[in-house]
Amino acid sequence: MDEFDVIIVGAGPAGASCARQIMEKNPSLSVMMFDRREELGVPVRCGEGLEQAAEDYTGPIPKRAICKYIKGARVYAPDGRFLEADMTKMAGGRGGYVLDRKVFDKWLAFEAVKKGATVQCDTLITDLIVENGWIRGVRGINMGKEIVARAKVVVCSTGAESRLGMQSGLKTFCKAQLVDTCVEYEMTGSLADEEFIHLMLGSDIAPRGYAWIFPKGDGIANVGVGVIPSPDPMKTALIYQEKFLKKYAQFFDGKRNIMEIKGGIVPVGDLMKDMVTNGFLVCGEAAHHVNPIHGGGIKEAIVSGQLAGDVVAGALGKNDFSKQGLSSFNPLWWEVRGNHLRNVEKLREVFEKFSDKDLNDLVDALTPEDLIDFSRGQKLGTLAKILLRKPSLMFLAKKLL
Ligand SMILES: Cc1cc2nc3c(=O)[nH]c(=O)nc-3n(C[C@H](O)[C@H](O)[C@H](O)COP(=O)(O)OP(=O)(O)OC[C@H]3O[C@@H](n4cnc5c(N)ncnc54)[C@H](O)[C@@H]3O)c2cc1C
Repeated sequence: MDEFDVIIVGAGPAGASCARQIMEKNPSLSVMMFDRREELGVPVRCGEGLEQAAEDYTGPIPKRAICKYIKGARVYAPDGRFLEADMTKMAGGRGGYVLDRKVFDKWLAFEAVKKGATVQCDTLITDLIVENGWIRGVRGINMGKEIVARAKVVVCSTGAESRLGMQSGLKTFCKAQLVDTCVEYEMTGSLADEEFIHLMLGSDIAPRGYAWIFPKGDGIANVGVGVIPSPDPMKTALIYQEKFLKKYAQFFDGKRNIMEIKGGIVPVGDLMKDMVTNGFLVCGEAAHHVNPIHGGGIKEAIVSGQLAGDVVAGALGKNDFSKQGLSSFNPLWWEVRGNHLRNVEKLREVFEKFSDKDLNDLVDALTPEDLIDFSRGQKLGTLAKILLRKPSLMFLAKKLL
């Protein structure tokens, strides 16, 4: 049986960032990343948008992992008017990227491997080994063969869909109403301005969420919708995706060349208070670390993974990997990211009460800077003031003040 200091289940952005951070803190530790995918990063379940500021955490992203440099975002009201947020003209002057995640995820894992971590794909972890209230390792299937591996700490960075974390006894399950369902096509023939990502609002195409066009260059784009889940077969993400393509037909050449169909879910709230137990820590999207308004989770996963790596390396240094020894992860993550994301969640709760007419009016009332601030959970008071001017929306202002 194999034994490691740390086993990381899931080598996506959170797991790979956690592994790299642990190795940077203490290169003598043995860190094993297991991932069920036969190829890291594949299949892609992502719009692949990432703000350039993420490089503060990853270091420079190699050109081969970037499809398109983006200046900012255009946000379209239900009536089609849009607000343009050119981030290169704002404080910091940095835009973003539409990535190639098939390359990006492998690069992130390779950065961890270069520091001394080990990665093994095609390894589905089916069970946590639970002994007397401690997580002591994992069981799974590697390339068709059963495996058992033990570790002082198991990190769960399995993304939104896996239920593995629940075996720890932590409340990793995200409330069904706080998960958006998504469908996305990688298409050719996009005519949308390739210097921006395009986000379209409206109850007719994306209730609670939004529809998007993320250009990858040369008319290729990720085109999708994320919506509130519904048992009504006429309200699936796929139905809304088709409505979106029809409503915004002017953005496409009409040939419907679809090269890849992707789907998935994104948590949009239900941020976990407690993310550790004896010998176990959950981070990244598995802990719902996603921006609740735009569903961006790559940068959140990277930050969450790095913070987790700091805590795990520290706990191993003190030889205390009990719940107590790992517990600093909770206040640390909440201080660095959680409180911001909770503010963003409050904004989402307010936005989802808006009618299409309210959203149309809002586009007139907001500046591009407001949009960026809101997506970061800042300046909620600005929105509250706008709401206070409209008697029908006054009650929502209270949520923000
Ligand atoms: C349609 C869609 C569009 C999106 N668009 C964007 C976007 O444009 N920008 C953005 O920032 N975010 C976007 N997101 C969210 C983003 O993709 C995730 O938040 C991000 O990938 C989370 O990183 P992670 O490392 O936590 O989890 P993941 O990237 O999901 O990685 C988890 C890894 O764990 C592995 N795994 C799972 N279970 C097991 C198991 N039992 N055993 C072994 N391995 C396991 C998986 O194979 C996977 O490799 C989108 C999501 C969806 C669904």
